[in-house]
Amino acid sequence: MSKKVALVTGAGQGIGEGIARQLADDGFAVALSGRHLDKVQRVVDDIEKNGGQAYAIEADVQYRDQVFDSVKKTVEHFDHLDVFVNNAGIAHVAQICNTKEEDLDRLLDINVKGTFFGIQAAAAQFRKQETPGKIINASSIAGHEGFELLGAYSATKFAIRGLTQAAAKELARYKITVNAYCPGIVLTPMWDQIDEEMSQVNHVAKGESLKQYLSGIALGRGEEPEDVANLVSFLASDKADYITGQAIMVDGGIKYV
Ligand code: NAD
Repeated sequence: MSKKVALVTGAGQGIGEGIARQLADDGFAVALSGRHLDKVQRVVDDIEKNGGQAYAIEADVQYRDQVFDSVKKTVEHFDHLDVFVNNAGIAHVAQICNTKEEDLDRLLDINVKGTFFGIQAAAAQFRKQETPGKIINASSIAGHEGFELLGAYSATKFAIRGLTQAAAKELARYKITVNAYCPGIVLTPMWDQIDEEMSQVNHVAKGESLKQYLSGIALGRGEEPEDVANLVSFLASDKADYITGQAIMVDGGIKYV
């Protein structure tokens, strides 16, 4: 077992892309999974152009067999697995009273069940290898406080904190750690969508909702995927061996927990 291997879900853009690039810079061989192979392949090609080792996998995290299959493909390609980053997720903007059941189901399927399956698949592989492992999940500031118009999304991100704690307790005996990152307002396509939908609901100009959220950040700027990737880089490293069950804020100063 030479190079350490990480699998990152939802790695075709945004935070997942940032994490995959950072872990490749850290010396990991990285498997990138996503719903659209062409999007993850673009990032893979770029990582390889920069001298890294990367591999693209098409997988939709709401399907258990696809998540397990992505771990299988990673191990077939890179021999083993050390780190699994449950990054894939979606947002939805609506008042709770106006949230449609199918939108709620989609959020739960992708954000909660997808992460659940990721924990199951990664833990099964680590135990089969009889090696320590690290599972790192995407929570949010919205996993620490319920945000207006993001009720269903917030519920999923709270769920991920609970899952992270329970999995950390169950898996510690196998030297598997489970932690979560909690970003704030990250300037990715997800926030383009949130801003557009919030601005429609609130009848304000496009960009206004984002501006309002950005004005509440102590460090005075929006978050970049690299800010999140720096925390994940640490959590994926040996330096985080004694940390488990934590949901760590990386938000530039929005929530103080
Ligand atoms: P994004 O929408 O820019 O990217 C998400 C990626 O996940 C996309 O590539 C998308 O195709 C993929 N994805 C979505 N559903 C999927 C599925 N079913 N299977 C596989 N891949 C799927 O979002 P982002 O801003 O990069 O967010 C990444 C994670 O970080 C999400 O879990 C999100 O909830 C969380 N987060 C984001 C922010 C933010 O401000 N952007 C803040 C806190 C937490």
